[in-house]
Amino acid sequence: MRTTVLVLFLLSSFATIASAQTTHKRTGDSVRLPGAAFAAMQKIDPERVRAHVRFLSHDLLEGRGTGQRGGDIAAEYIATQFALYGLKAVGDNGSYLQKVPMVGITPAAETTFSLVSSKGAVDLKPLDQYVAYDQTQQPQSEVDADVVYVGYGIEAPEYKWDDYKGVDVRGKVLLMLVNEPPSDDVNFFKGKALTYYGRWTYKYEEAARKGAVGAILIHQTEMASYPWEVVRNSNSGEKSYLKLDGTPRLKAASWVQFEVAKQMAATAGMDIDKMMADARSRDFHPVSLPVKLKAHMVSKIRPFESNNVLAMLPGSDRRLKSEAVMFTAHYDHLGIRPDMPGDNIYNGADDNATGCGILLEIARAYSEAVARPRRSILFASVTAEEQGLLGSEYLGKHPPIPASKISLDLNYDDVPPLGSPEEVEVSGSERTTFYPVIEAMAKTFRLTIRPDSRPEAGHYYRSDHFSLARVGIPAFSVNEGTKYKGHDAAWGLQQAEEFTSKHYHQPSDEYHPSMDFTGDAAMARFGFTLGSAAASQSKLVGWEKGDEFEPARMKNSAGAQ
Ligand SMILES: [Zn+2]
Repeated sequence: MRTTVLVLFLLSSFATIASAQTTHKRTGDSVRLPGAAFAAMQKIDPERVRAHVRFLSHDLLEGRGTGQRGGDIAAEYIATQFALYGLKAVGDNGSYLQKVPMVGITPAAETTFSLVSSKGAVDLKPLDQYVAYDQTQQPQSEVDADVVYVGYGIEAPEYKWDDYKGVDVRGKVLLMLVNEPPSDDVNFFKGKALTYYGRWTYKYEEAARKGAVGAILIHQTEMASYPWEVVRNSNSGEKSYLKLDGTPRLKAASWVQFEVAKQMAATAGMDIDKMMADARSRDFHPVSLPVKLKAHMVSKIRPFESNNVLAMLPGSDRRLKSEAVMFTAHYDHLGIRPDMPGDNIYNGADDNATGCGILLEIARAYSEAVARPRRSILFASVTAEEQGLLGSEYLGKHPPIPASKISLDLNYDDVPPLGSPEEVEVSGSERTTFYPVIEAMAKTFRLTIRPDSRPEAGHYYRSDHFSLARVGIPAFSVNEGTKYKGHDAAWGLQQAEEFTSKHYHQPSDEYHPSMDFTGDAAMARFGFTLGSAAASQSKLVGWEKGDEFEPARMKNSAGAQ
């Protein structure tokens, strides 16, 4: 009975796909789903998504921790599915696995971190007043350098903004603000929305690129949009990094409490509020403070490795098969915490066994289709997302097909099994040339596109698609919105809030037989259809003009010629 209804729905959808063909003058491409692809899409089965979720989030997998046994079993499970589907292995040495070398760094108790001025030295207290990691992955580093205040620490030519003004900061420690200059003007750092320039990761990267040895981020709850506790919790204990690969790194990548920065300014005879106000001007110029950071960084270094799982369905077109459309979903979660009493397995059912189940169903559908898309289709289940998008970062730097030839990445991360969605979230897709196709397809699927409800939180920069956008690949995540069939919008919001407060990154993110995977299957079908369209249209997908990722796309394309 259910199947009949589904087929009828899909048939009517197909008619809409056909009628939507003439509406895309912007790209010149039509949204056409060939019969074979349409038939394949219909095979995507919510009960198969369930089976994958149930297994991947089983206690036996011990929370799929990166570098832990359970994580490796999950990778092997996914590789086995790819093999059963007959997909080509495109990992290392003809296998499905791509090794991702990583290093765990734990700051040791011997570390000292002091601010030295003519008035003497002030030793800061770890966790209470500062957090710091040595990104150079050395067991010991010494920092003894002048502190230079660089405002927001941003150099963004497209917004005509440069906090550095060409000042040589090599060998210095840079004191800076988080976030970006506040504005309501959408043409200026996207108004209220956070761009990557506002993220703390960018600040560290830019400081290191400019040759600084350290960076000190000033924490302020309003500016960071989260309290000090969040900084403290995510910066205590071991943190993972990709093994050194020539990218410049900081000896001291740190945050300080607002009060510390205030005192530091006072020591220099300056006023922190005025310094913060000055930073909001285009005319801001770096300020050398009569303060030095003297740090003795001691770290425990633990090299380890994990794997991305990579497979490919070669395209049918002789010329276009060297190009690809990619699907991604991270398989790792937080693992097991043996020292914790009670349930200490972070099963990660929603996050992200659901995304893996969806990825696998999409892979199966493609592999069983009687006709292949013109471009190749890549499937990547990546590791170490929870460690800071590390698996996808490595994949972006070492893609099986050059990044310039990857048309699009569709990512799945935490797709709640709550029933039949009436909305879809594709935040970031509006920045790509593919958006008209997405809009038409959403209509076909009777899904309303739900805009990012909190663009100021910068969610776009917090999941794996971002790692691929950074190397220029048009990329975004596909997820449900909050409106589900049979419920009002408030119900969906309430479910989301409840998950965030009670289960997100908790051992209770577990599989329950009562979960309804209809929506996960719908998201898989939606992505399958988008992927098929992108894999067959005449041109590669690009970023809209002026987008922050357009330069990376152009740079990589030029390099690949
Ligand atoms: Zn996730």
